[in-house]
Amino acid sequence: MSDPFRNLNALYEKVKVHSDRVMDAYSGKFQCRRGCSDCCSSDRSVSAVEYANVAQALSEVSEKTLSRLKSQPRSKKRCSMLLDGACSVYKARPLICRSHGLPLVLDRSKGRQIVDVCPLNFKDGSLGTLPPEDLLAQGTVDSILVAVNALYCQEENGEPRKRRQLASLLE
Ligand code: SF4
Repeated sequence: MSDPFRNLNALYEKVKVHSDRVMDAYSGKFQCRRGCSDCCSSDRSVSAVEYANVAQALSEVSEKTLSRLKSQPRSKKRCSMLLDGACSVYKARPLICRSHGLPLVLDRSKGRQIVDVCPLNFKDGSLGTLPPEDLLAQGTVDSILVAVNALYCQEENGEPRKRRQLASLLE
């Protein structure tokens, strides 16, 4: 039987290759590091394939970690997977968590695009000088994720339009 997460992991790997290259090229301009969890400031709502992937990762954490995650007070201002300032399912974190911090091209209405980045990064104002290949096209990776989720739902009888909060994995 084929791995139900093969397409998702292939997408994650592509984003990782881009992320590693850009973070390496501009290493002095990123504040992203273990301990910074500013982008984990709300619970994530994810599609079926990412929900199942995080559920699998959660099934592999220690009983102690799971118990601590479950006993944490719920907050709209913090992701339910955050523990001691770090992601407890880091290897399975959703796509949105992988693109946070990177310089992004974001699609806006009427075909407009903007370039954006976490306010902690590129504080020297050099964001606008980056070449297109160093910007992650958020709309493109989101579209690929939609396709990956649709394929997953076909194979696993999932509901492609349904999104669920990660916090519900701890109920
Ligand atoms: S899943 Fe992990 S990386 Fe993503 S917001 Fe939650 S704690 Fe942060």
